[in-house]
Amino acid sequence: MATISAPSAPAPSYPAQVTGMDILARALKMVGIDTMYGLVGIPVTDFSYIAQSRGIRFVGFRHEQQAGMAAATHGYLTGKPAVLLTVSSLGFLNGLTATTNATVNCYPMIQISGSSVREPIDLDQGTYEGLDQLNAAKPFVKAAYRVNKPEDIPTAVVRAYRAAVSGRPGGVYLDVTTPCLGAIMNATDADKLFYEPVDLCPSAPPAPEAVKRAAALIASAKKPAILIGKGAAYARVEDQLKILVETTGIPYFPMSMAKGVLPDDGPLSALACRSTIMEEADVVVLVGARLNWLLSRGHGKWSADTKFVQLDIQPTEIDCNRPIAAPVVGDLNSSLNALLAELPQYKMNMDPAWVPSLQAQTKTKNAKFAARLAANAAAQPMDHWTALGAIKPVLEANPDVILVNEGANTLDDTRDAINMSLPRHRVDCATWAIMGMGMGSAIGAAVATGKSVVAVEGDSAFGFSGMDFSTICRFKLPVTVVIFNNGGIYNGVGVNLSGNGDPAPTTLDVKARYDKLGEAFGATSYYVTTPQELADALKEAIASKAPAMIDVQLAADSGKESGHIGYLNPEALEHITV
Ligand code: ADP
Ligand code: MG
Repeated sequence: MATISAPSAPAPSYPAQVTGMDILARALKMVGIDTMYGLVGIPVTDFSYIAQSRGIRFVGFRHEQQAGMAAATHGYLTGKPAVLLTVSSLGFLNGLTATTNATVNCYPMIQISGSSVREPIDLDQGTYEGLDQLNAAKPFVKAAYRVNKPEDIPTAVVRAYRAAVSGRPGGVYLDVTTPCLGAIMNATDADKLFYEPVDLCPSAPPAPEAVKRAAALIASAKKPAILIGKGAAYARVEDQLKILVETTGIPYFPMSMAKGVLPDDGPLSALACRSTIMEEADVVVLVGARLNWLLSRGHGKWSADTKFVQLDIQPTEIDCNRPIAAPVVGDLNSSLNALLAELPQYKMNMDPAWVPSLQAQTKTKNAKFAARLAANAAAQPMDHWTALGAIKPVLEANPDVILVNEGANTLDDTRDAINMSLPRHRVDCATWAIMGMGMGSAIGAAVATGKSVVAVEGDSAFGFSGMDFSTICRFKLPVTVVIFNNGGIYNGVGVNLSGNGDPAPTTLDVKARYDKLGEAFGATSYYVTTPQELADALKEAIASKAPAMIDVQLAADSGKESGHIGYLNPEALEHITV
């Protein structure tokens, strides 16, 4: 029997299609974003694969907050925002803490979070991981946008980027709904959506009369000082600052993360003379530093007569806490160039005794500090100063290692002990004085710069981010984590006044072996009890350019409550009767 075959029909042809996720990855690449830190799940998993396949580096974390700290540090160190990718609801909220912290610190970053379908959220009907994330984010970030349609993605990404880097940098939130991520478009239509944005971070030169006013005030000063903040480190104006200091002879004082913008041990460094500057300087030039709590109250008191020149990009920062005699509003690069061009037209009036008096004071203070380290050099078990005496020469011999630092005593004492000589090589808990940035910032610093990183962590501080040590190992990053273990928050000698046998609120684990945690993830790990062992381990770990963990055994009674900011802690314990 003859079979009748159906006439062969041509295969149907459909136009090539792309999803919202393709468009998002392409839009991010278009603005130059090359790194994404995050923790995936519904609805962003496929997006992470697509972005990775398109050449955006994806660094997967164990906690969103740390991924966010990494993105923030990446933005601070490179000036180019990285993306923090989070899932909806809790993942979004965990990441938002880091985006908020970035905003407080003026670091650019973009948090992109998947979010649920709009309708059940707007009608409050209850849906998978349902949360009105856009409105939750708004009060905490510099800018927040939601994108509902794939056609809007390229515009949304450009807006988010501009918001993150322009003016005062900060954290930006971009909410991308599940339907938008999964939406399908014809590829040819999608192609038409993309454009090369022009001048993503425009310069903002200051007004010439503001520069003249500032130059005249600086030139009139008898006892001037330049106060350098992390805004100057971010703006990469170390070359202009060097010229400013060398041509005027004005001494400088760096804020914590501005250490190294100019060398801490340079001849005009007044690092050890903070209180003298606050009490005696007649004109202080603030370069990318805010007159916030870190420069007032328990941190010293300015003389009522001190006049300020303030170079900042944010107009509302001016007169924020103190009247500013000469505001220079503009980007630091433009402002310093303008000031350097203007100053030669003025005659400086500096008191010839000012710099020598600061230098003499520096010498005395440095000798005192060295004596303190020497006096503790043999303490057994070690205290913070014993350990820092061992670390100091190793880190100072490796100036290109980025130092990440958090804790209470561990933060304050490390900042005081370790001199920095290169800009953007110190990353710490910054303006909010938070805990829980260590592993994320170390990872962000290593990924963004390719440099070696040493994170000096209090044991309590490490606890907030410790699990992301595994991320350091998985990505084989050249990061050494040094844990100062005194077994507690502040120290390990807290007493439970109830006598019920529970640990005191500040008590942690003085006998914990953090080196075993390092071993668990394949890092070279050390447990050290003497300064020599510590110095040897740190040298070896830095040289290895591989993940390393050093558990430094300190005495439980090393360290005091709240470190250097005990004055902020209301004291009530002595009034307690049990
Ligand atoms: P620190 O904690 O080191 O004192 P702050 O974070 O308090 O520094 O201050 C940094 C300041 O630098 C902020 O007021 C911010 O507006 C400013 N800033 C950041 N980037 C720039 C820039 N490119 N040009 C001018 N000012 C900047
Ligand atoms: Mg501790």
